[in-house]
Amino acid sequence: MKIAVAKGDGIGPEIMDAVLKIFEAANVGLKYEYVEMGKWVFDKGYSNGMTPEAQQTIESLGILFKGPMETPKGKGVKSVNVTARKTWNTYANKRVFQTLHGVDTVFSKAGIPIDVTIVRENIEDTYGGIEHMLTHDVALSRRFITRPGSMQVIRYAFEMARQKKARRITCGHKANIMKLTDGLFLECFYEVAKEFPDLKADDKIVDDLAMQLVIKPDQYDVIVMTNLQGDIISDLCAGLIGGLGFAPSANIGDHISIFEAVHGTAPDIAGKNIANPTALLLSGLAMLRHLGLTEDAAIIENALLYTLEQGIHTGDFGDKSIPASNTTQFAEAIISNF
Ligand code: NAD
Repeated sequence: MKIAVAKGDGIGPEIMDAVLKIFEAANVGLKYEYVEMGKWVFDKGYSNGMTPEAQQTIESLGILFKGPMETPKGKGVKSVNVTARKTWNTYANKRVFQTLHGVDTVFSKAGIPIDVTIVRENIEDTYGGIEHMLTHDVALSRRFITRPGSMQVIRYAFEMARQKKARRITCGHKANIMKLTDGLFLECFYEVAKEFPDLKADDKIVDDLAMQLVIKPDQYDVIVMTNLQGDIISDLCAGLIGGLGFAPSANIGDHISIFEAVHGTAPDIAGKNIANPTALLLSGLAMLRHLGLTEDAAIIENALLYTLEQGIHTGDFGDKSIPASNTTQFAEAIISNF
């Protein structure tokens, strides 16, 4: 089985090398085709951040495992991450936030387990980047929410919730203010809910949802949201389980799926070999399971969990009285626990 791999920018190459080394040591039956994608490809003159060969390879293989890619703020190039999600209609962004033993948080210390999955609509909303200056002092952003786009991601979320035997599925929204756009998304949610009478479906206004997640995160199970609100609430959830170093993500489409960490290129620590590769590794494990390589995924996951329980950690988490491992040492510790 062959997949496309793009190492990405910033900490991308460091964490991708660490994860692929773990895969190799576990004898995962995968072959890789490396593709050119990211900020450095924009700099080479490709206006969408990927070469035509990269696009072709990803389309023929159907799976992209990617490191984070930089998007400069303000005016200039469009995000290659958003371009990739749109080009291949990866309409559902699944982000799993789970308590990990050995990663201390206020909740783990209080014995409150967290297992929240956010399914974020991945194509529409303000991410079209359709913005205009109306006058020198007034900027306008357009927001698109469509019925077909909402229905497909919400149906994916319900199916996933049923498979997961979730207690509850919640729609996060701001339909009290954005009555047409979020109103349409919420309407679609309750329409799909009728097809899943076995699941408890409810909704929460996003500001209340943010507070509830911080106070009592264990009351939530699966949350489905529009693109921008889902992006923000996901980072909040990453904070609940110990930080962005532990937040994996899968961009699911009907033909192509992209697996990557929730976090970005971490320019403040790039090139130092100190980044935490766990989020990318967990994304890789979701990819292995997606490909049916469940045994390989289980072996690596057990080794990761054992490593965390041993107190081995990178600098972004863990017991400060135990010296931090660098990215390479952390990957080697996981390998030694197979
Ligand atoms: P970021 O996620 O890169 O970093 C936020 C903070 O978390 C930083 O302090 C960073 O050091 C830390 N951090 C992130 N990942 C870490 C890891 N694995 N180990 C240890 N610490 C980690 O967010 P940012 O600084 O806002 O964004 C930087 C760039 O990344 C921007 O250009 C942004 O557009 C891009 N980005 C890309 C993606 C993607 O490729 N999917 C996602 C988010 C942001």
